[in-house]
Amino acid sequence: MSSIALTRGGTPWDPQYVTAINQKTCIGCGRCYKACSRNVFDLVERENDDDDEDDVAMVMSLANAADCIGCSACSRVCPKACHTHTAASVLMA
Ligand code: SF4
Ligand code: SF4
Repeated sequence: MSSIALTRGGTPWDPQYVTAINQKTCIGCGRCYKACSRNVFDLVERENDDDDEDDVAMVMSLANAADCIGCSACSRVCPKACHTHTAASVLMA
């Protein structure tokens, strides 16, 4: 696998950009929002896909996906494995 970056020590580094959030499994805990240094996320109201009009649960969304640096901090703190990442080398192939 090729990489497009290096760590400070010169080790190849292939950023793992966030490309999706599974809003069906997200519990809106906000951990990924707090962990992200790039303001990629935003909490939004979960879209109602049933008849429960009182459901105002919040879910995470990708508000600024283009600002992601691919550090994977969000996935490390998510208790529900909601994030999908794609390697920079794949996205830019
Ligand atoms: S990979 Fe890093 S920069 Fe990208 S959304 Fe997750 S925490 Fe933010
Ligand atoms: S950490 Fe996971 S469960 Fe919590 S808001 Fe983020 S995506 Fe949703």
